[in-house]
Amino acid sequence: MFDALRRSTAPMLHGLPWCCLSRKKNQDRTESSQMDFSRRQWLAGAMQLGAWTAIQSAIPPFPPLRAETDSSPVVFPQPAPGIEIWDAHVHLGGGNLQGTIGERVRLLLKYADRMGIRRLILCMGPKFEADPSPEQLREQNNAVLEALQVAPDRLLSFVYLNPKHLEASLQEIERCVVHGPMVGIKLWIAIRCSEPPLDPLMRRAEELRLPVLQHTFFRQGGNLPGESSPEDLVQLAARHPKVKFICAHTGADWERGIRAVRPQKNIWIDISGSDPTSGFVEMATRELGSDRIIFGTDAPIRSFASQLAKVLAARLTPEAQKAIFRDNIGRLLEPILARKLAPSPASS
Ligand SMILES: [Zn+2]
Repeated sequence: MFDALRRSTAPMLHGLPWCCLSRKKNQDRTESSQMDFSRRQWLAGAMQLGAWTAIQSAIPPFPPLRAETDSSPVVFPQPAPGIEIWDAHVHLGGGNLQGTIGERVRLLLKYADRMGIRRLILCMGPKFEADPSPEQLREQNNAVLEALQVAPDRLLSFVYLNPKHLEASLQEIERCVVHGPMVGIKLWIAIRCSEPPLDPLMRRAEELRLPVLQHTFFRQGGNLPGESSPEDLVQLAARHPKVKFICAHTGADWERGIRAVRPQKNIWIDISGSDPTSGFVEMATRELGSDRIIFGTDAPIRSFASQLAKVLAARLTPEAQKAIFRDNIGRLLEPILARKLAPSPASS
């Protein structure tokens, strides 16, 4: 019976991809010897054949290529009318961005203009220093302060801190936010954000009502030393429920990231940095609500266009699109912007 079955299925098995079948090593490459399976190999192959057939029947046929059926010009999806776009996650380094700070800003804005992005929120200088010394922190933030002067009507920025240097970080908040133009805090990978050294900085963020943008990743093979996951951020946010946190990159593995932050209501996600995968923004809207999603790109590491596509190609109402592109980050910045615009700014 086994032989009869083998003969009847051999032609089908022969057409399957190599990965679906197991063959004996060093066998002759004749038709008959290729079919010389052991009983165990045959059963494994037959089971995979069943799965393969089921998969094939479940996959709808590819639609014809557009060029075969339609000669009209390609229309890139546009935001709904009247929507302003703010990018909450932009750098002065990475990609091919080079030159002076002024040249970098002008190039970023050239591409932002092309893609209809009105405001960019900058953080960190041209160099990516994972564990900056107090001096390096000042250099990083000085580069951003210089950038702000190039186009103050188009740029905002977050102060870069290293919680391993508490006093230096507190001083940077005073220098760049209280007495300077910056409007939030950026934390990267110096130390996992669930660690206690962050607490004094978060208490200051609460006093000043500053949003905190924390890089997060679920990295395949394990995170870098000091790199936070969305779960780390949930721990931090639970300890500081009045501070508003932005989970940068949604952990890159966005399905896990969305689930991780879902119960912690003082966390927003930024959708920057990953490939423009279909379903990301739709899932985030379903699980978190569009009011907890913030548009960001990670430019120039990622293109503006690829990140815009995540929102523009998603099935969203105009109201949800407006919230993601502008209103949510605007609401997070409202308290600190109001403080800066107040007639007699307090210094505490
Ligand atoms: Zn980034």
